Amino acid sequence: MQMVSSFIEIDKASHFPLQNLPWGVFSLQDDGRPRIGTRLGAWVVDVAALQAHGLFDGPLLRGTAVFDQPALNSFMALGTAAWNEARATLQTLLAADTPTLRDNAELRSQVFHPLADVIMHLPAAIGDYTDFYASEYHAANVGKMFRPDDAPLLPNWKQLPVGYHGRASSIVLSGAEVIRPCGQILPPGAAAPIFAPTAELDFELEMGFFIGPGNALGQPVSVNQAEEHIFGLVLVNDWSARDIQRWEYRPLGPFLAKNFATSISPWVVTLAALRPFRSPGPTQDPNPLPYLQTASTTFDIQLEVSLKSARMEAPLVISRSNMRHLYWNMAQMVAHHTITGCNLRPGDLLATGTISGPTADSCGSLLELAWRGSKPLTLPTGETRTFLQDGDELIITGWAQRDGYRVGLGEVYGRVTAVAAPLAPRSTLRVE
Ligand code: CA
Repeated sequence: MQMVSSFIEIDKASHFPLQNLPWGVFSLQDDGRPRIGTRLGAWVVDVAALQAHGLFDGPLLRGTAVFDQPALNSFMALGTAAWNEARATLQTLLAADTPTLRDNAELRSQVFHPLADVIMHLPAAIGDYTDFYASEYHAANVGKMFRPDDAPLLPNWKQLPVGYHGRASSIVLSGAEVIRPCGQILPPGAAAPIFAPTAELDFELEMGFFIGPGNALGQPVSVNQAEEHIFGLVLVNDWSARDIQRWEYRPLGPFLAKNFATSISPWVVTLAALRPFRSPGPTQDPNPLPYLQTASTTFDIQLEVSLKSARMEAPLVISRSNMRHLYWNMAQMVAHHTITGCNLRPGDLLATGTISGPTADSCGSLLELAWRGSKPLTLPTGETRTFLQDGDELIITGWAQRDGYRVGLGEVYGRVTAVAAPLAPRSTLRVE
């Protein structure tokens, strides 16, 4: 690939060189006006302002105000031709040999904002959220823990990408605090549940992907056109309460154990930016049914999870995984989701499920890393963890690497806080 460079100096370790150009929604500290931008090195670039200056002059975007919006949904709906036109325009405007911005200090000052001046917002109005279970290593680990006498994978697992409909309303942006939820928990050996804060709060390392144009109700997306419906990727931490999940999940799957918070990273990285990092993924055996057969691939994206307790001085990397460990790819997830005719809409979020790798240090959840509490993690302070404690900070990052540059997703950060309000004490008031 020909190296392109910008007139802005960008560190080689930056996730955001000119090859990336992710999409996000930002406002300035002092204007409260969310609009669409991109990221270049340590700068946020105001794409809405560039468009207002008439600089998006391609046939599909000329005369529109699609970037002066508080969410990416309208732009997502336009499809790959418009996305590619926007990317090409930005790559030209920001390139080292284009004078338009490079030589216009006044315009540059209106368009380039240092990170400290910027507040990020959710990239889209997310109508629906679906979470899959697409890592064989993760599914097999969970199977071994919870059904030790049976085959690790259930019989359907290699025939279809297992998933469930999640909760869009509680998707939060990186940085939001995560309040420890309360719920029904069945203590070991007990006959009846108690109501208590979860004692088994966990993270899940996932990738999420936003839907672009989507499909009309009744019209499935074919697996070989599915990538045209994928706008881009974010990092996802799908917080989970394992003890609540264990009691509630039969027979319909997780409900409250996963509906209290799902954190996502703010910058949506496009398939165009990730194209050089395609990876075939594992061989699928047995061959899936025809509607799931595809030449589509996954991506070689290195993923890293770090934990910092309140007493630690710096985060500790507790897991290293990779998106290429997924058994099912995103195109197959879209095709399967829509095969009934279910309609996906612009801005819907689909997530892959926990991405675990083949080794003990590549697991994408604490449930697996500490093997259901039997192998506690020891932190540099001497503290141990089987699940997350109040005050713990969890950071997930991910990037694809080439000689001389990275295309990254930034990070998704969350800190666990105690139950918001104390549990109501049992009433001792008696009316005599
Ligand atoms: Ca999940």
